[in-house]
Amino acid sequence: MRAIIKYLIGFIFLCCFELNAKENNDNIAIVIHGGAGWFSGMPESEIEGIKNGLKDALYVGYKILENNGSSVSAVEASIRILEDNSLFNAGKGAVYNADAIQELDASIMQSKDHNAGAVAGVRKVKNPITLAKYVMENTPHVMFSGDGAELIAKDGGIELVDESYFHSEKNLKRLENVQSKQNKLGTVGVVAIDINGIITAGTSTGGMTNKLKGRIGDSPIIGAGTWATPGCGVSGTGHGEFFIRYNVAKEICSRHLNRNISVLEAASNVISELKSIDADAGVIVLDGSGNSAMVFNTPAMARAYKNSNGDEIILIYK
Ligand code: ASP
Repeated sequence: MRAIIKYLIGFIFLCCFELNAKENNDNIAIVIHGGAGWFSGMPESEIEGIKNGLKDALYVGYKILENNGSSVSAVEASIRILEDNSLFNAGKGAVYNADAIQELDASIMQSKDHNAGAVAGVRKVKNPITLAKYVMENTPHVMFSGDGAELIAKDGGIELVDESYFHSEKNLKRLENVQSKQNKLGTVGVVAIDINGIITAGTSTGGMTNKLKGRIGDSPIIGAGTWATPGCGVSGTGHGEFFIRYNVAKEICSRHLNRNISVLEAASNVISELKSIDADAGVIVLDGSGNSAMVFNTPAMARAYKNSNGDEIILIYK
C-alpha cells in the first residue's frame, strides 16, 4: 500500500513538474544577425532589402515558435531564408575566397543535450544550415568538411546545386576591392528559445572575402561562432580567427552563467575586449528567459529580435 501511495505521489509530482515546466516557458524569443561591419556606401535600396530580409527571417522563425515548434526548426527555417537571399554572406550570397571560389561554413547547436552539427568548406550545398542540422540529428559526428560533407548531403537527400548557383558579379567585384571595408556583406546567425525553454543557436557564412582556399572560420566551430547551453545561446559574426582563438561564443555564456551577470554585460565585456585587440566582432545572445543582447564593436550590425511580450526590433546602425 505504502509503495502504491509513494508511486502516486511521485506520479503527481512528475505531472505537476511537467505542467510547470510548460507553463513557465511562455518566454519564446528569436534574435537574428545579418553580419557586423560598416554598411556604409550601400545604396538605400540595399539597406531596405537587408531589413526586409531580416524581417522575413524573423517572422518565419517566430511563427514556428508561436505554434509550439522547436527552436531547432525555427533557427533552421530563419537561416534558410537568409541563405536564399543574396544580400547576405551565406548560401546564395556567399563571398569569394582568394581563388574566386565560394566555400561555405555553417553550424547549429541546441542547449538540451549539447547536440551539435557543422559543415565546413562546402561548395555545392544550397542550404548549409540544413546539412548542419542533418549532421546533428542523423550522424554520430559533429563536423564534416568538403567532399565528405557533400556525400552526407547526397545520402540525406539534401539539395545540391551546381557551383554556378552561387555565382555573383557583385561578390567578384568585392573580391577585387577587398581592401575596402565599406561594402562588406554579412554572415547570418539566429538564436531562438522555444516553449520548452530549449535554446538553439545557428550560424551560416561564406566566410571572409579573399580568405585562402581551405580556410575555415569560426562559424562552423562549436564554442567559437556558435554555442548553446541551458540558459544561454550565442551566434557570432566578425573576424573569425579571433572568435576561434578566444572561444568567444562559449566565453560569453560562461561569464553570464558563472559570474551571475546579464547576457548584455557578459557580451559587452567580451566584445570590448576584442575591440582592444583590433578584432571586429558582433554577437547575438539569448538567456533562459528570452532576454537578448545584440552587441558589436563595428559601426553597424544588421540585427532583429522578437519575443512573446510583443517587443520587436529591426536595426542596422547603432
Ligand atoms: N565570422 C565569419 C568568418 O570569419 C565572417 C563574418 O562573420 O563576417 O568566417
